[in-house]
Amino acid sequence: MSGKTAIVLGGGVGGVVAASNLRRLLPKQDRVVLIERSGRHVFWPSLLWLMTGTRNAQDVQRDIAALKEPGINVLKREVTRIDSTTRTVYTGDDSVQGDALVVALGAELVPERIPGLAEAGHNFYTVEGAAQLYEDLQSLREGRVVVLIAGVPFKCPAAPYEAAMLIDHLLRKRRVRERVEVEVWAAEPAPMGVAGPAVSQGVKDLVADRGIAYHPSRQIARVDAPGKRLHFEGGDEVSYDVLAVVPPHAPPAVVQEAGLAAPGGWVQIDRETCETPFENVFAIGDVTGVMLPMGKPLPKAGVFAHAQAEAVARTIATRWTGKGEEGRFTGNGECFIEMGSGAAGFARGNFYAEPAPEVKMFRTGRHWHVAKVAFEKNWWRTWF
Ligand SMILES: Cc1cc2nc3c(=O)[nH]c(=O)nc-3n(C[C@H](O)[C@H](O)[C@H](O)COP(=O)(O)OP(=O)(O)OC[C@H]3O[C@@H](n4cnc5c(N)ncnc54)[C@H](O)[C@@H]3O)c2cc1C
Repeated sequence: MSGKTAIVLGGGVGGVVAASNLRRLLPKQDRVVLIERSGRHVFWPSLLWLMTGTRNAQDVQRDIAALKEPGINVLKREVTRIDSTTRTVYTGDDSVQGDALVVALGAELVPERIPGLAEAGHNFYTVEGAAQLYEDLQSLREGRVVVLIAGVPFKCPAAPYEAAMLIDHLLRKRRVRERVEVEVWAAEPAPMGVAGPAVSQGVKDLVADRGIAYHPSRQIARVDAPGKRLHFEGGDEVSYDVLAVVPPHAPPAVVQEAGLAAPGGWVQIDRETCETPFENVFAIGDVTGVMLPMGKPLPKAGVFAHAQAEAVARTIATRWTGKGEEGRFTGNGECFIEMGSGAAGFARGNFYAEPAPEVKMFRTGRHWHVAKVAFEKNWWRTWF
């Protein structure tokens, strides 16, 4: 039986959607291979509920081999090298060669780039860090919680602000909020800046309404972990009792070694087809860097990884079968903004609009929180 092979690298948001769609669209004789090093799929938005105790670690992840779509060849291995010309993927001593490659390896979290940061606080962009943060928040009686954005870009532009509001709500529920300060110290100049000034101001207002102090444009320089003190470039300092960290992000080394990205850079793609300069090699999601005409990059968000994955799967299937139409990523996206107390905001728009993204923030309310919970439920039902 002869057929073609599509290889998807990474079993996160983009990888799971790409592999599942490819399997649905391609004939049986074609092979779909999914390679994921952690052995699990994490639904990252749920980490915000893990850190505030409304989810546990089992709720937010599944075995990657438990994908609902049958017939995907799942390999729980680390991609150690990619030959972009021959589309050969190496996992240690083994290798697999494909007719199409979809690179969905996400962004690496690199707290070690800031002296002292890896030893300090909790990186709530990991399952383990979010769970530990909850433990600390549960026992805190007074002092200061700092949500630290340690570098740009970072995935999910809303997440740190949502985290601060959810922490605020948790502390109010515990009746200790009046004795605990909550602050956001951010390497970026404003929240969700790419979505435009109205959305950015809307998020700032939500944070301010809850008495959360916001310190933008503060780049962390080093952390004194034993002394529980943050030192910023330019001389600002602040102490903390609980530290919630969004660590610096970096492109995976393996994509740079493959010639898919310049040193220190993200994978460059056609912004609609998601093709790299290498034939039949596509890249989607957080591993990519798409510069918008306004001069800022497309934010790193699951909603984009998801839509790009669907588009790429359609393109590959159409090219191989001659049926249907190729997919295109249009730049549309949306985002829930958790506020605590069972309410949320919602923003939606087109990030490819010119000269600048056109994004609207809707009136906040309980219905958006309910919609976010429904989205999570639907995620697991659809893919696992
Ligand atoms: C707390 C939090 C909340 C968020 N909330 C939202 C939200 O509400 N809405 C939204 O749109 N986005 C949200 N995001 C962002 C969203 O999760 C990411 O943008 C999305 O996961 C990107 O998908 P991806 O497939 O590109 O990368 P990922 O989902 O990160 O997947 C990459 C995968 O590749 C694997 N991998 C990496 N290197 C290798 C290797 N060498 N070999 C094998 N496997 C490898 C990783 O283990 C990982 O599973 C949130 C993120 C966080 C952390």
